[in-house]
Amino acid sequence: MTAIRLDGVSKVFEGEHLAVDELSLDIADGEFMVLLGPSGCGKTTLLRMIAGLERVTAGEVWFGRTNGTRLPPKDRQVAMVFQTGALYPNRTVRENIMFPLQIAGHGDDHASSTAAGLAQILSIESVLDRMPRTLSGGQRQRVAIGRALVRRPNVFLLDEPLSNLDATMRTELRQEIGAMTRDLNVTTLYVTHDQVEALTLADRIAVMREGRIEDVGTPAQVYNDPATAFVAGFLGSPRINLLSATVRVTAHHRVALDFGAQSVSLSPTDRRSLILRHHEGAQVIVGARSNAFRVITDEDVANQLTGTLRAFEFHGQQSIAFVECGIEVVDPDRVGIAKPMHATPDVGSAAPTSLMTRVLSRVRSPRSTPQTEILPPTHRRADLVIELPANANLTRGTRIHLALDTTQIHLFDTTGHRVDRITR
Ligand code: ATP
Repeated sequence: MTAIRLDGVSKVFEGEHLAVDELSLDIADGEFMVLLGPSGCGKTTLLRMIAGLERVTAGEVWFGRTNGTRLPPKDRQVAMVFQTGALYPNRTVRENIMFPLQIAGHGDDHASSTAAGLAQILSIESVLDRMPRTLSGGQRQRVAIGRALVRRPNVFLLDEPLSNLDATMRTELRQEIGAMTRDLNVTTLYVTHDQVEALTLADRIAVMREGRIEDVGTPAQVYNDPATAFVAGFLGSPRINLLSATVRVTAHHRVALDFGAQSVSLSPTDRRSLILRHHEGAQVIVGARSNAFRVITDEDVANQLTGTLRAFEFHGQQSIAFVECGIEVVDPDRVGIAKPMHATPDVGSAAPTSLMTRVLSRVRSPRSTPQTEILPPTHRRADLVIELPANANLTRGTRIHLALDTTQIHLFDTTGHRVDRITR
């Protein structure tokens, strides 16, 4: 068991492709940290640098008090499980799990009994004498996990270990991985682009984007108080509504969010009011999850939006409605990452100032968003996505009135950063 510290770690691949960009992160001893982010954001590269399978271009990787940046993989006490657990095809399950212990000089009896013990925890004791080719995908992953854990590593790295399994198997193995790593108290880094896995497994989630961390916190923190619009958009299903609005300061310093033909007001006691009342005319992004709206019949209710019910879907426990309100929505994947209106706390992606960053800025990947980019012209009038009771009795094409609970909205500046501070 050990803590991990990533200190300004960068990776530039040949061809000057910047995959990880001065990333700093502390993972506590025994913590289960999930790296969550879209395809290509650098999750696997980061994991491989921790394992020693990929050279670090700049920065340092620490295991406890040991600087492990240049340690060979075998000296790191790190075990890794990949998307498809590669097993020795000519060895039985038992032999596969025993093998790392045998290599380390343990006797066959000890190796065999340890393998049997792990097999029991992993519910694969009935297949111990079978060959890998006769196993299901889920069983193979369990064997790979057993083989990775048999030497009691200090650090356990998992790279999308469930992505090739069917939904039932995924849920089952997900729960077992969570329980097992906690029982063993092993420091774990788990890579996924599946938000459900992240939210259910993690002690903390680090949300990555383009080689950097945009937010890090407990699942509740990053879901309830996302640091950026991108994070808000990445977590939650249905996806959060991100609406383009203009700040209007009315009588008595009251702050309204003007969507064009419609608007809502913040409560004077809302702390965001105190910030935005000095920003008359500023563009902001209003993040409202589907459950922040409520269908109402009383047209006099304050903070309501009106639109046309375009479609709805029955989802079993709830229905999802699509309402055309004539409001511009913003694509969270396209919101820039430049400086916030108010400096947000350091959430792992420090402002680029170092020599390394200046050097790397020359080689920033082509898909990187320029630092000064704000909202590209991706605004479009699209539907608000609203959660309704499953038995809601609505007709397509009708006018619908929605009360928006402004205490539940998130407010971001046009760079995608929150307008208010968060403490983690
Ligand atoms: P996914 O979820 O799709 O596995 P990821 O977040 O794990 O993606 P990485 O595999 O770490 O992303 O890749 C990060 C970036 O680095 C990508 O743009 C990828 O094309 C690039 N990359 C990864 N490995 C190499 C390599 N060996 N040489 C050059 N570029 C690479």
